[in-house]
Amino acid sequence: MKASSRQKDSFSKLSNDIIGCRKCPRLVKFREGIAGKKTKRFSDWDYWGKPVPGYGDHKARLVIIGLAPAAHGGNRTGRVFTGDLSAKFLIGCLYEAGLTSQPNSDSMNDGLVMIDSYMLAAVRCVPPDNRPTPKEAKSCHPFLERELLLLKNAKAVLLLGKFAFDSYVKFLRETTGLKTSNFKFRHGAVYDPPGMPALYASYHPSPRNTNTGKMNREIFLELLEMIKKEL
Ligand code: SF4
Repeated sequence: MKASSRQKDSFSKLSNDIIGCRKCPRLVKFREGIAGKKTKRFSDWDYWGKPVPGYGDHKARLVIIGLAPAAHGGNRTGRVFTGDLSAKFLIGCLYEAGLTSQPNSDSMNDGLVMIDSYMLAAVRCVPPDNRPTPKEAKSCHPFLERELLLLKNAKAVLLLGKFAFDSYVKFLRETTGLKTSNFKFRHGAVYDPPGMPALYASYHPSPRNTNTGKMNREIFLELLEMIKKEL
């Protein structure tokens, strides 16, 4: 991504700022409530219960953006796309495409290495019903902006779902002044904004989409192969 005025920002500073954030009262209460209550199958876990930073190769050419951590996924494990069914689908496919070191993403210490890829969520705290309010999305947006500006080698951005798509398009508009009214979310849509990474839209690999067949390994792997060819 293009250089910004935040020349002194770093991944570690950003990560600390994200983890310590308590800007959204509703989400702070929700994430901590889940961490306290837990769910039966993970009752022996010490839940993370905090915002979740991005994870992967800081020099990645592929950046993958999702919506937000899952209640018993990222909010439990502390790592984005880790420990839930969306993670199982996503990391399994990334592994098959040669973009991760292993097909599973279970916990912070499972040894997962992202290969030329980096993943993050547009909103860093788990929201009720997977729906952050516009105010919460706006409050969290500066973290997305900072992370994208740190990912200086990005050549492609894969946006999982409409929320991630809209968040990234807002970043594009605000960072470059580009007119984005022609950017429409559709699985498989590709845009090539001048001077910025190519943008690829995809359905989110949530169980709701994978269980109904709206999203499956075949269409997702096809998209990953197309992206890899362009890197
Ligand atoms: S959603 Fe973002 S801005 Fe809101 S509390 Fe979580 S990390 Fe902070």
